[in-house]
Amino acid sequence: MKFDSIVIGGGMAGLSAALRLAEAGQKTLLMASGQSALHFSSGSVDLLESEGDPRTALPAFMAANPEHPYSKVGLAHIAASLDDLQRHCAAQGLPLFRQERNHQRLTPIGTLKATWISPDTCACVTDAPAPDAILLATLEGFRDFHPELAAANLATHARFAHCRILTGEIRLPQLAEFSRNPHEFRSADIARLFDKQGNGQHDLLTDLAREISRMVQESGEPRCRHLVLPACLSLGLVGPRLAELELRTGCIIKEVATMPPSLIGMRMQEALKRRFMALGGTFLTSERVLGARYDGDRVIGVHSQNGDDQLFEADNFVLASGSFFSRGLESRLRGIREPIFNADVLSLPERDAWAGRRLFDHHPFMGFGVKTDDKLRVLRGGKPLANLYGAGSVLAHYDPIKEGSGSGVAVATGWQAAGHILSSAQ
Ligand SMILES: Cc1cc2nc3c(=O)[nH]c(=O)nc-3n(C[C@H](O)[C@H](O)[C@H](O)COP(=O)(O)OP(=O)(O)OC[C@H]3O[C@@H](n4cnc5c(N)ncnc54)[C@H](O)[C@@H]3O)c2cc1C
Repeated sequence: MKFDSIVIGGGMAGLSAALRLAEAGQKTLLMASGQSALHFSSGSVDLLESEGDPRTALPAFMAANPEHPYSKVGLAHIAASLDDLQRHCAAQGLPLFRQERNHQRLTPIGTLKATWISPDTCACVTDAPAPDAILLATLEGFRDFHPELAAANLATHARFAHCRILTGEIRLPQLAEFSRNPHEFRSADIARLFDKQGNGQHDLLTDLAREISRMVQESGEPRCRHLVLPACLSLGLVGPRLAELELRTGCIIKEVATMPPSLIGMRMQEALKRRFMALGGTFLTSERVLGARYDGDRVIGVHSQNGDDQLFEADNFVLASGSFFSRGLESRLRGIREPIFNADVLSLPERDAWAGRRLFDHHPFMGFGVKTDDKLRVLRGGKPLANLYGAGSVLAHYDPIKEGSGSGVAVATGWQAAGHILSSAQ
């Protein structure tokens, strides 16, 4: 089977690369072994933790970190990659929000986290004034969002000093079926129930709207118009459902990402996957790539767990297999390893030096990963492979947590890897 390009990995980095390649008319195959970090993430795209506009902070950051993936992409291309992400999501009915500096998204425990882009439906603190009252609510029996905890943390923020933060619980008898097995009572289960019934019928949504109105009435602040619910009302595009609820209740309703599985991240993954397939791309799931065949410094094909001896051939390849979390990198007693190409990895010889002593210390292993040259070509035996590009959290020299740069790096490097492939094909 021969393609123009093969992308290994179906997370933010792989999708970003695959979308650009497919849109440029390349016959593109994306192979993903399983879920990506998006299934566990907020769905927001962190660019760089900074006061004010992170784009203003980036030049100094890149100058101080010349090996950082952002430095290999460049400011203009980082911006273009994020614009493309917004365009692709919008085309799939998933509008994304951003302003001219980082906004703050509400976390499930009520802390605020700086980020660059968030789905429109997310509860965020923006430049607009905070409301006088806000109601954080959950569904009775749902264990992955605790309004009281979130409210207590939110109340400590100066922006909410004047704001009355209320909590509430929605009772829907239809959810009682889950109580037989509390371990199944997850956001995805509730969402499936809503999705089964669809919009606009006299159904669960009608009961939810009535319950919301009751809760607001009983909250002691009946004029409260700002409501935050856990993200559990749809596995798919939730915008129309929230709009319908807003119409019926007169409230402004936003979502907060729950503990995993995170529907907000999953929706983004699905939207980007749909877009890729609409552009003519081929997406293979449950397809773990095991190894590659080479001709000199070129990869000629990869083989997978399911493919027996079948070789998936292409002119170019993108390695976007993620970090330890997605098994793009493996940690063994004797060191760190990239399992598909046995690429060169940045690591430290002394295992004791890999992690800090305390949880919130700096952990050097976060910056471990695959080494690349300036064009993001993956190094093997000290030399770049001519047609294999690295993207996303498999890469060395960046620490998504310390820098607040996780999905920003994934989107930018995926986009840039695709750009190098397209230039080389001209
Ligand atoms: C739990 C968690 C939450 C996060 N939350 C955020 C957040 O809210 N905002 C943010 O900006 N960043 C967040 N990050 C940082 C994250 O690293 C990036 O956001 C980004 O999503 C990483 O994308 P990626 O495509 O590089 O890797 P991943 O999302 O990890 O995707 C890797 C893909 O490669 C596939 N794969 C792995 N090995 C193989 C193989 N051998 N063959 C085929 N496929 C393979 C996996 O199945 C997966 O599809 C989070 C990270 C984690 C781990």
